[in-house]
Amino acid sequence: MEVEKMDENDWKYHGEGNKSIVVSHAQHSQVLRFLKHSVEDHKHRCQTPEQTQQHIQNIVDFGKHVMRSLLGDNFVHHGKAVKLPLDFVNQLSLKIEPERPESRTDKVMDTLSGWALCLPNLTQLPDHLGEHRPALCIEIKPKCGFLPWSRHVTKDVKLKVCRFCMHQHLKISSGKWKRRSQYCPLDLFSGNKQRMFLAIKHLLEESQNNLKIFKNGELIFGCKDDANQKRDLNELAQHLWPFFFPTGTLIHGCPRRKAVLHKLTQVVTMALLSSGEPGNVTEPRRDHCHTSSLLQDCCRKANSGLPKDCVLSKILQVQLLDDLDIEGIYPLYKRVERHLAEYPEERSTMQVDGPYNESFLERLRCCPSNDNGSVEYAVGKVHQYRVAMAAKDCSIMVTLAPCEGDEILRPAVEIQPSKPRFRGSVSILDLDPKPYESIPHQYTLDLQIVSNYIQSVQSDS
Ligand code: ATP
Ligand code: ZN
Ligand code: MG
Ligand code: MG
Repeated sequence: MEVEKMDENDWKYHGEGNKSIVVSHAQHSQVLRFLKHSVEDHKHRCQTPEQTQQHIQNIVDFGKHVMRSLLGDNFVHHGKAVKLPLDFVNQLSLKIEPERPESRTDKVMDTLSGWALCLPNLTQLPDHLGEHRPALCIEIKPKCGFLPWSRHVTKDVKLKVCRFCMHQHLKISSGKWKRRSQYCPLDLFSGNKQRMFLAIKHLLEESQNNLKIFKNGELIFGCKDDANQKRDLNELAQHLWPFFFPTGTLIHGCPRRKAVLHKLTQVVTMALLSSGEPGNVTEPRRDHCHTSSLLQDCCRKANSGLPKDCVLSKILQVQLLDDLDIEGIYPLYKRVERHLAEYPEERSTMQVDGPYNESFLERLRCCPSNDNGSVEYAVGKVHQYRVAMAAKDCSIMVTLAPCEGDEILRPAVEIQPSKPRFRGSVSILDLDPKPYESIPHQYTLDLQIVSNYIQSVQSDS
C-alpha cells in the first residue's frame, strides 16, 4: 500500500463495531480500521493526533506482544499502524457515511489524526490464493464461555446462569434488541458437537451482533443495523447452496434449506475444533447454563471437552484469566487507585496504560497466585482481568474455500476430508486492550445485569 497514492474510490464500507469503522479494498485483500469518536469529542477535538497514534500503536503492540503469545501466532494478525493523507481520510469518510447503519451514527470516524490500522481482509482469502475462488467467511463473536467460580461472587445466580444469557434480559428491557437470543456461549465452548450445533442454530435464528456471514467479502447474513437485520434463512440457503452442493445433488427427502444449514453448521463446528492434535482433549468443563435448552443430564454424560489447541480452547484459556470475577477485581482496582493517588509517577512503571510489550506479558505471568496485600498483586490481577476481557469481546473468523484436487492452502486447516472439500483458515480479530478506567463501569454493569435478570425472571414466573 502506497500511502501517497491513496484513492477513496478503491475502498468501500465494510463494517463497524462500537470502537471502530472498517473499510475494505476493492481489489486487494486488505482492510483499514479507523477509530471512532463520539460526536461531542470530535467537535471539541478531545484527542490530539499524537494520542490517536499512541492508541493505535497500543492496539498493535497488544496484539503483537500479548495476545499473539497467549492465543497463538497462527490465529492473531496484529496489523500495522499507518499514517494516511488527511485529504484521503476526509473523502473516504464522506463516501462511506451513507452506508453506515442508522444505529451507529452516534459516533463518527476519526478524520483528524490520519492514523489507521492496516490488516489483512479476513473475510477473503489472501491475494495470491483468492483469485476466481469463492470464499465464505463466518464471523462469530462468542462472548464469555465459562461460569464464574470465584469466592468473591455474591449472587448465586451468577454461578448458574452465564453472563451472556443474563445480559440478554437487560438488552431487551433497554431496547437494544427486540428479540432475545437463545444462543448460549457455554454450548459453543462445550466441545460437545450436539451442544455446538445447538449454539450455531441459535446464532442463525437470532444473530444480533454475534454472527455475520460474508460471501466473497460481502456481508450476506447478520446484522449491519440493529433495527434492520438481514436474517432470512431462506436467502442464506440460496447463497450457500452452490458452495456446499456444487454438483446440485440433493439429499433425498431432505429440504434444501435444512441440508445447507446443516452442512454449514457441521463445517463451522469442525473448523472451531480443528488444529488441535487428534485425541488430545482438555479436561472437560462441566459448565452448563441453566437457561440453555439441552438436558443437563445428557451433557454430563456426553464426551465434552475441547481439543487442546483449537481456537475455542485458546480463547477460553485467556478468558479464564478472569478468575476473581469483577466482584473480586473491583476492590483490587481500588487498591491500585489508592496507591496511584499517593505515587502518581508509578502509573507508567506499572504499565497501567501500556506499553504492551514483553514486560507487560511478564507481569501477567508472574502475578502471585495469592493475595499478599501488595499493590503488585493488585496490578497483576487487574492486568489479567483486562486481558481476559479482550478475549471475551473478540471475534472468530472462519474462512472457507472449496479446494480443487490435492492442492494445499496455507495457512490452513483441513476442514472436511470427504467431498466436497474445504480448506479453511481460522483467525481471531478485535483484540483491543480494554481500558483500565472501564473497571468501575464493569462493576456497576455487572450489578445491573444481575438485578435486572433476577427481576425479569421473577416477573415472568
Ligand atoms: P466491537 O464493538 O465488537 O468491539 P470494534 O469496534 O472493536 O467492534 P471490530 O470488531 O474490530 O470493531 O470491527 C468491526 C467489524 O469489521 C468486525 O465485526 C468485522 O466484521 C469487520 N472486520 C474487522 N477487522 C476485519 C478484518 N481484518 N478483516 C475483515 N473484516 C474485519
Ligand atoms: Zn448461557
Ligand atoms: Mg468487534
Ligand atoms: Mg472491539
